[in-house]
Amino acid sequence: MRMRPTLSWTPTGELPPGTTDLEPVVDAVRAGGVLVLSGAGISTESGIPDYRGEGGSLSRHTPMTYQDFTGDARARRRYWARSHLGWRTFGRARPNDGHRAVAAFGRAGLLGGGVITQNVDGLHQAAGSEDVVELHGGLDRVVCLDCGDTSPRRELARRLEEANPGFDPVPAAINPDGDADLTDEQVAGFHVMPCVVCGGVLKPDVVFFGETVPAERVERCRELVRGAASVLVLGSSLTVMSGLRFVRQAAQAGTPVLIVNRDPTRGDTLAAARVALPLGEALTSVAERVGVDVG
Ligand SMILES: [Zn+2]
Repeated sequence: MRMRPTLSWTPTGELPPGTTDLEPVVDAVRAGGVLVLSGAGISTESGIPDYRGEGGSLSRHTPMTYQDFTGDARARRRYWARSHLGWRTFGRARPNDGHRAVAAFGRAGLLGGGVITQNVDGLHQAAGSEDVVELHGGLDRVVCLDCGDTSPRRELARRLEEANPGFDPVPAAINPDGDADLTDEQVAGFHVMPCVVCGGVLKPDVVFFGETVPAERVERCRELVRGAASVLVLGSSLTVMSGLRFVRQAAQAGTPVLIVNRDPTRGDTLAAARVALPLGEALTSVAERVGVDVG
């Protein structure tokens, strides 16, 4: 459903300080037609760490690049060993109050544009959100780089379990891209599984660093931004252009952007307000004040 913007706001270029006043967010959600753009910060309360957030642990974790993955069989083995371990954590993760509030806004018909998420954890959908665009793909699927076949990750996980009995190293950390930190010794001997259809190379159906988001997916998101009355950024520092460009698009069109994120973001100068509160608490409060039953 396309909704005409009912609110208008012109960016000032000033860096707005974080606020704890949720009123602008309450007003926007109550007005409806909201497009949610979510990032890793909405999933931290589900036990999935935000490696770009507090502590700046990104420097410790070097994500797999598309070039490494496709060009080097040893890199793929390292990736699948680490990712297989990380999957056990992702498999246990459950939606939190933030995901539940977003799903409730959707049921109440307040999300005209639906949800664009930068997360690959599937927790919006697990909470009951429909019309979720997974900007960077989803860890619950794998795709064959040779024949294009897609299949459920849980099937590959079962095959990897069978091929690697006793594989149970203790990782240094589990990262939000589903990757666990393991040493070279810990991944040595890990058996990678080929595509069941053609024997080709399997890759998680997620956008790696060094890989671009498919053009038709970007265009679909641009369409959602065009139809949104407001854009609500939840738990993203907007450090990657893949998300920031939609905030820019909204701001250029005079569509208000509201951000709920504890730390400053790259979109703050484009936003009407940034609310610096934990997401579960903030969104539960918004739902109460709008009169939406989170259930
Ligand atoms: Zn294949």
